[in-house]
Amino acid sequence: MWDQLYEKIDTLYDRMVEDRRYLHQHPELSFEEKETAAFIAKRYDELGIPYQNNIGGYGLIAKIEGGKPGKTVALRADFDALPIQEENDVPYKSKVDGKMHACGHDGHTASLLAVAEAALEFKEELPGTLVFIHQPAEEYAPGGAKPMIEEGALEGVDAVFGTHLWSNTKLNEIETTSGPFMAGADRFKITFQGKGGHGAMPQQTKDPVVMAGQAIVELQQVVSRRINPLSPAVLTIGKIEGGNAFNVIPDTTALTGTVRILDKDVQDEIIEEMHKILKGIAVSYDAEYELDYVKGYPPVVNHETEVNYYLHDGNQIPGVLSVRDVEPIMGGEDFAYYLEERPGAFFFTGAQIEGHAYPHHHPKFNIDERALPTAAKALMHGVRKYNENHQ
Ligand code: MN
Repeated sequence: MWDQLYEKIDTLYDRMVEDRRYLHQHPELSFEEKETAAFIAKRYDELGIPYQNNIGGYGLIAKIEGGKPGKTVALRADFDALPIQEENDVPYKSKVDGKMHACGHDGHTASLLAVAEAALEFKEELPGTLVFIHQPAEEYAPGGAKPMIEEGALEGVDAVFGTHLWSNTKLNEIETTSGPFMAGADRFKITFQGKGGHGAMPQQTKDPVVMAGQAIVELQQVVSRRINPLSPAVLTIGKIEGGNAFNVIPDTTALTGTVRILDKDVQDEIIEEMHKILKGIAVSYDAEYELDYVKGYPPVVNHETEVNYYLHDGNQIPGVLSVRDVEPIMGGEDFAYYLEERPGAFFFTGAQIEGHAYPHHHPKFNIDERALPTAAKALMHGVRKYNENHQ
């Protein structure tokens, strides 16, 4: 049955390309994906597969109950686009100014729809239940995964799998790793409230520019001196705001930045250490500081047993050319929330166009559509393996 199912997925290639290109031409930003969700619902209507929509926003969940006993396995695809002006010269270019599917979520959706269509044909022979999670708003924290889970997306689900079409990875190669695979990504803003005045009379002021300068240097200690060196972390300040004139000391200065972690346990420690440093600086200048720290997605941590379906057995998936166990990357993904709740794995499906290797979120980002059936089969492989291992 599995081989026939994979073959069926191959026959749906044109359908996948058509779905993907339609979505590519009609991108919608995070939390605004009303028409995209309606398109997905329409496709399930056409297939006659029952679904529930408006879950945690524009989320949609469809289900196929197989004819054989087995486990309930969820597969997830996100469907939001980005505020980027597309620069690709293709017939299916985005029709919306300033918006673009520059991360491949259009392809994720097309692949998952094909999995559903193929699985439907083999419904009677399928073990357990398949749950299709179509998730909005991956690109913008707090994201769409969390509200979908809060509204029951994982109820009754035993395991969950997801993939990201990846333009940095060669076509139809799979990359993933056990444990932390993608980083937790937080953002923060620090404001020093001093006292402004004349640049020539600093003794009458509390100079927030100097405080900010000191903070930039001292905050480097957080990662290098204050947390476990075996817990990789990044603290970057990407923006400095303060002052308007060469001879005026401003009232306030602000620093904006990001923290990336692979180990969630160090998150609170980092915040605490940042407070200590900032407080020390503020006290010494008799000034005030504020730290607005926004916790983003947690790290994506793959479960060992389930990720080994790919690391060890991924070459059993027809169309997969090779499987690589890679180092974690510091980008974030809200698939992390599903893996905090259930066993499962997240992996990259290589979708690089030869000679057109633009990174994700680039105006010329694009995917090789021949990765779509591979992603679909690789997701189905998770369902197969999980059931085979839990009989
Ligand atoms: Mn993405």
